[in-house]
Amino acid sequence: MKVNALPVDPGPAAWNDILAPRRPCPALDSTIQADVVVVGAGFAGLSAAQRLQDLGVQRVVLLEAKALAEGPAGRNSGFMIDLPHELNSDGYTAKSGAQARAIRLNRLGIGYAAELAERYGLSRSAFHQGGRMTGAATEAGAKHLEQYAQQLAAQNEPFTPVTGDQLQAITGGDFYRQGLYTPGAAMIQPAEFVRGIAQGMVQAGVQLYEHTPVLEFSRTGNTWSLKTPQGQVNAGQVILAVNGHVQSFGHYPKRLLHVFTYASMTRALSDQELRVLGGQDYWGMLPADPMGTTVRKDHRRIVIRNHATLNQNLQTTPGDMRRAARLQDKSLAARFPSLQARDFEYRWGGRLCLSINSVHAFGELEANLYSACCQNGLGTAKGMLSGLMAADLVVQGSTPELEEFQAGQSPKALVPDPFLSLGAKATLRYKEWRAGVEL
Ligand SMILES: Cc1cc2nc3c(=O)[nH]c(=O)nc-3n(C[C@H](O)[C@H](O)[C@H](O)COP(=O)(O)OP(=O)(O)OC[C@H]3O[C@@H](n4cnc5c(N)ncnc54)[C@H](O)[C@@H]3O)c2cc1C
Repeated sequence: MKVNALPVDPGPAAWNDILAPRRPCPALDSTIQADVVVVGAGFAGLSAAQRLQDLGVQRVVLLEAKALAEGPAGRNSGFMIDLPHELNSDGYTAKSGAQARAIRLNRLGIGYAAELAERYGLSRSAFHQGGRMTGAATEAGAKHLEQYAQQLAAQNEPFTPVTGDQLQAITGGDFYRQGLYTPGAAMIQPAEFVRGIAQGMVQAGVQLYEHTPVLEFSRTGNTWSLKTPQGQVNAGQVILAVNGHVQSFGHYPKRLLHVFTYASMTRALSDQELRVLGGQDYWGMLPADPMGTTVRKDHRRIVIRNHATLNQNLQTTPGDMRRAARLQDKSLAARFPSLQARDFEYRWGGRLCLSINSVHAFGELEANLYSACCQNGLGTAKGMLSGLMAADLVVQGSTPELEEFQAGQSPKALVPDPFLSLGAKATLRYKEWRAGVEL
């Protein structure tokens, strides 16, 4: 079977670009044997590979189409969130009524990330479990936060209301009028995190091949063979950790929503510019309206993320990128009047994979071929979780956590195109318009 599309990542992976250059692991150029091969070195793939090794699997091979941290795992906003946060719902609460289960499982994913960060000595800038701040700029946003607080109270989840003055002390500006702090979430520098745990696991014996896209795969008896441009891996078991690209491997057709979201990062600001900005050195703010803007200040740089487009062919367009840039210029000016569009050094987009019923695409697809995909926009935590669960499924077959993780449904069928794309475009535009100033 041929893989019918390879990942295309628009714009630079800024978080990776601002780090010191690293020497990539080699591309595969021969035929090798593995016990388990994991495809995709994002959160799910790294987590799966590491967990396989933790469980005693001897030959674990990890194949990544691009350089490490160049794909979505290295180009996100870095909020590792434990509480429900669903991009296709109207608020922040899961629709299913299964919040408690979702929270427990997300925490399992974050817990594994924390364990690996500690094991491999990652810095505080790469991984820091300092909770999450959500900010509202409008009356409607404040209402979202109030509803969210009620849901948290009903779940016995701790939270702290935050005043406009407190937010001003954090951000340096008066854009946000009300906020809500919840502990439990972590913030990562995504590329530093991905590089750090990959380096640790390679030193511990996982074989990582970069610039090694899987082009074809087939099964003969009990052996899967994966062909790459210059090599081949023969393995007993395969975990696909390629998020939406699981569809390019022929699975979950017409069940996955391929959404791009976009971000811009400023150049490193000078001491004088930072003094004018005021506020704290390092903070992150999620929007009260899920369609609003996510902002981070990472020491000298500001990162703005907003805008979402449905691109069922897994590729965004220059028009989508231009619209995102316009929206982000506006968001920057609204929050940081001393900065301007020309202060942005980087612009990029990246893939998310959602299902209409907000569930993962997980499990054994065919004999010894497994999927750990579809993270519903929360892949930093859910990716870590699904990789962990996939490895447990391969090696242990069943655990109490797996039972809980697999209890849900699988992705529901989508309405066919063009209705899907037209409907999604109209809905996303409407929600962006409704988010208004929060954008
Ligand atoms: C701008 C932006 C902001 C975001 N902010 C957040 C956030 O704050 N918090 C959050 O939780 N999530 C966020 N996300 C989403 C998050 O990045 C994804 O959900 C997450 O990366 C998914 O993890 P994954 O491991 O499942 O897949 P990915 O990270 O997409 O990794 C899959 C890997 O598979 C590789 N691959 C694909 N096909 C092949 C092939 N044929 N052969 C070999 N390798 C292949 C890809 O190159 C890729 O590296 C954001 C995304 C973007 C774009």
